Amino acid sequence: MEIFEQLESQVRSYSRSFPTVFTTAKNARLVNREGQSYIDFLAGAGTLNYGHNNDRFKQPLIDYIQADGVTHGLDMFTDAKERFLQAFNDIILKPRELDYKVQFTGPTGTNAVEVALKIARKAKGRSGIVSFTNGYHGCTLGAQAATGNKGQRGGAGVALTDVTRIPYDGYGDDGDDFMGLKLLDQLLTDPGSGVETPAGVIVETVQGEGGLNAARMEWLQELESVCRKHDMLLIVDDIQAGCGRTGTFFSFEPAGIKPDVVTLSKSLSGYGLPFAVTLMRPELDQWKPGEHNGTFRGNNLAFVTARVALEEYWQNRDFEQQIAERAALVEKRFTDIIKRFGEDVITLKGRGMMRGVAVPDGDTAEQICRDAFAHGLIIETSGAYGEVVKCLCPLTIPLEDLKQGLDILENAFAKVLPELKAKAS
Ligand code: PMP
Repeated sequence: MEIFEQLESQVRSYSRSFPTVFTTAKNARLVNREGQSYIDFLAGAGTLNYGHNNDRFKQPLIDYIQADGVTHGLDMFTDAKERFLQAFNDIILKPRELDYKVQFTGPTGTNAVEVALKIARKAKGRSGIVSFTNGYHGCTLGAQAATGNKGQRGGAGVALTDVTRIPYDGYGDDGDDFMGLKLLDQLLTDPGSGVETPAGVIVETVQGEGGLNAARMEWLQELESVCRKHDMLLIVDDIQAGCGRTGTFFSFEPAGIKPDVVTLSKSLSGYGLPFAVTLMRPELDQWKPGEHNGTFRGNNLAFVTARVALEEYWQNRDFEQQIAERAALVEKRFTDIIKRFGEDVITLKGRGMMRGVAVPDGDTAEQICRDAFAHGLIIETSGAYGEVVKCLCPLTIPLEDLKQGLDILENAFAKVLPELKAKAS
């Protein structure tokens, strides 16, 4: 492992929590060089919703490569892109009555967010964006400005401007529902507030990095109506919560809202290949050719696996049912853990298969994850203080692996939490 210490930048983070060299992976399992198998509750931070090296996509990918299908295509028309767009329209957009143009952005989530912000600013001719406390949108400067995390913001090195933060659902609420949205509406209505109308609002329906805060459906509906009232675009950043993670393809579906702009990445390619898109209402597609560019907007290998993922998992409701079953199991086990160790100490977070448990502080969460890793489970923390133990396992995880992983996790809670109580008393 010396070469990593010697050569790789110290910016690396996940490898600090899981200091071993991995060689192979299948569905919800990662295997290291020594042949030890780990259950993966991190799943590429939400990129492997369909598991590692899913056989349903692997053969079509191999076939495409074998036939010398175009690998890199800039934004030229290719057969692979055509078939992806057709499948995305037929399987995802049309049945949901969503009318969007699809913009292929650079292949990372943060690039899709940059595009979303630019679209809002261009369409409305205003620079301001509203984002929410504990929101996470990426590490390029525009997206970083909309991100809450202090540590990461500090790395920017320049002023992060043109974003106003308001409280997310439940943030600082003393029983006063929708406090942040009421404030936003009031500030934008009052001609004396000094607050200018922003171009758009960017929101995660469940805050992935910010601690698995799940917005209520009524809150999302209210947010949509505040956006409509004040002529701001509603941007849903579905990079982590989308592609089935919360139970439906788009995380906002149960709220019945229609965002103006949506970002997707992470699990979109299905296979862990880099791929991102920004979806926008057709009238917002006001770009001049090449105005937002990028060399890697044509990752055709990702188009192939993304298309097959849609065909294999989203043609009917079976996958949604499978996600719901697993989500119910995770919720039950987490609820049991909470009952066992005290509702006053730990709380349930998230929605669907984007679930976690908040413990009193980051150290405790880290200890739990460390103990879990020592027993063969890969799991990370999230939240402003790293205080949430975050379960993000593949949606395709075999039930035995899910149960075994949850057992390891429960044992880790059992070990760490009594120690914590003993220290406090
Ligand atoms: N938005 C959300 C909601 C995310 O969770 C992330 C990644 N954690 C991003 C944007 C940025 O994606 P990427 O790391 O691919 O740039």
